[in-house]
Amino acid sequence: MADVLLVEDDETIGRNIQAALVGARYGGLWCRDGATAIEAAASPCTIDLVVLDLGLPDLDGVDVCRAIRSRRADVILVILTARDAEIDVVVGLEAGADDYLTKPVATTELMARLRAHLRRGAPRGQAPARRAFGQLVVDEAMRQAWLGDAELMLRAKEFDLLARLVRISGAAVSRTTLMADVWDQNWHGSTKTLDVHVASLRRALDRAALAAGVPAPVVETLRGFGYRVKVLPTESPRPTDGI
Ligand code: CA
Repeated sequence: MADVLLVEDDETIGRNIQAALVGARYGGLWCRDGATAIEAAASPCTIDLVVLDLGLPDLDGVDVCRAIRSRRADVILVILTARDAEIDVVVGLEAGADDYLTKPVATTELMARLRAHLRRGAPRGQAPARRAFGQLVVDEAMRQAWLGDAELMLRAKEFDLLARLVRISGAAVSRTTLMADVWDQNWHGSTKTLDVHVASLRRALDRAALAAGVPAPVVETLRGFGYRVKVLPTESPRPTDGI
């Protein structure tokens, strides 16, 4: 079963979430401040998922988020923010969070979200084929992607997003479908998470394109619908001077 690191200074909220985690047979630990959480996430351990409250007594929650992400690229990071703190959500997602919930958090919703994330993160029984789209190669079994000969450095959700976008090469995918397939089947909330992840995916594609010396695939916004990936043809090699 998965191990969850809970970072929450509020005793009542922390106790409720911890009870739900134990009830669902998750392992892990509960930290009440940011410094302890960073230490716990950095130590060799089996943490699969972090639930991080952004309002902590010692450190800025966004800094804690960034610190955990820089130490653990593989972990799923879910942040808890105060209601209406939209700016916190965007900053938190940019600092490496995969998902967020606003307080007050309903533990049933939190648990449903954690289950969905952990299910998706688990190794798949059937390895899908490696998929190529132009210079872009996505291997869902290995959870790796390349552009030309440069490997794309992607966080878990950026990878899932890219994999979903290229599953049917070049086809447009609606926001609803992306939210359902990459985040949660029963998503009714804001889709800000999606926009922030698309933005970071675009940056990762640009970096890889620069490294590989090939044109960057474009994640095109289709207003009022969703997104689609377009690859540009590679310039045909210049004729060499005949020697
Ligand atoms: Ca707090």
